[in-house]
Amino acid sequence: MKTIAIIAHDGKKPEMVQFLNEHREILDSANVQIIATGTTGSKTEAAGYKVEKLLSGPLGGDAQIAARIAEAKVDMVIFFRDPLDKHPHEPDIFMLMRLCDVQNVPLATNPATARLLIKGLI
Ligand code: PGA
Repeated sequence: MKTIAIIAHDGKKPEMVQFLNEHREILDSANVQIIATGTTGSKTEAAGYKVEKLLSGPLGGDAQIAARIAEAKVDMVIFFRDPLDKHPHEPDIFMLMRLCDVQNVPLATNPATARLLIKGLI
């Protein structure tokens, strides 16, 4: 079982849903479990995927995902950040990315990288 964590900032949520739909076959496979921050998770669910929703990002969802990464419970992170917006939870975002490097977890921060990474799951 592979666990993928997905997070998308508000300006990137449509791109995340599009990305998920482009890879539905891989994501629907019995071996993939999706966890997500709250609002990203709701959009993912609305697109027809089974997902474990954590708190919304600004309320600690990124920190919850970071904790799972620290515990080596996440195999891949897809995090579509919006580089043109400000985020009150910037410290949590940095923590999440830092812990990916600590645990050597693949991290995609844009769709082009995510497309390459997700092929590694097949
Ligand atoms: P959200 O959080 O999915 O609850 O919007 C994402 C984020 O802002 O980190």
